[in-house]
Amino acid sequence: MEKPLILVVEDDSAVRNLITTTLKTQDYRFQTASGGEAAVSETASHNPDVILLDLGLPDIDGVEVIRRIRSWSKTPIIVISARSEDTDKIDALDAGADDYLTKPFSVEELLARLRVTFRRLRDTGAESSADSVFVNGGLKIDYVTGCVYVEGSEVHLTPIEYRLLCLLARNAGKVLTHTYITNEIWGNAWDNTVASLRVFMATLRKKIEENPSEPKYIQTHVGVGYRMLRV
Ligand code: CA
Repeated sequence: MEKPLILVVEDDSAVRNLITTTLKTQDYRFQTASGGEAAVSETASHNPDVILLDLGLPDIDGVEVIRRIRSWSKTPIIVISARSEDTDKIDALDAGADDYLTKPFSVEELLARLRVTFRRLRDTGAESSADSVFVNGGLKIDYVTGCVYVEGSEVHLTPIEYRLLCLLARNAGKVLTHTYITNEIWGNAWDNTVASLRVFMATLRKKIEENPSEPKYIQTHVGVGYRMLRV
């Protein structure tokens, strides 16, 4: 199989070189763009498998780049943000980015995020034929009956816990923001809804995680949201 094509969008040539050097070590194919307009046109003409997108670009804002690309493409987008761009990172996820890396990041971190993304791409393809059941390690959701099993034993979830789990499962591998989740579950993202989300997440974890303080299925992204990990 041909190696995946990655579009690297970054205006800082030092960071861009670090990324492309790393990609070369894994034989990934790549293309580069140093601005937002170029990112949109490269995506349209070359249809990359994954886009690594710096948010602070000289021409158009990274979040705007995501909105434009998302209007026609589902290509996974991993956002690269500086710490000062934390709210941008959340806006980027809400606009349809799949994951993020915070500068400075290590080469291992970059490669790990790419692996998660490729795995998610593969799983999405594989599941479309049998999507009445979701299986992830010892966790199983039967969407038809609405039953959830952990290591073969049924666990009883409240309706909200069940919807929360299904939302994370449908987006396994992808970071979902607090705003996105609360909008999907409750239809709003008020502060007190985000607080309830934490409560429901705690009770859900008690039911599905072997050790809720070291969750293996649902990962917390402090100040950002949650992600279901593939185990
Ligand atoms: Ca930049």
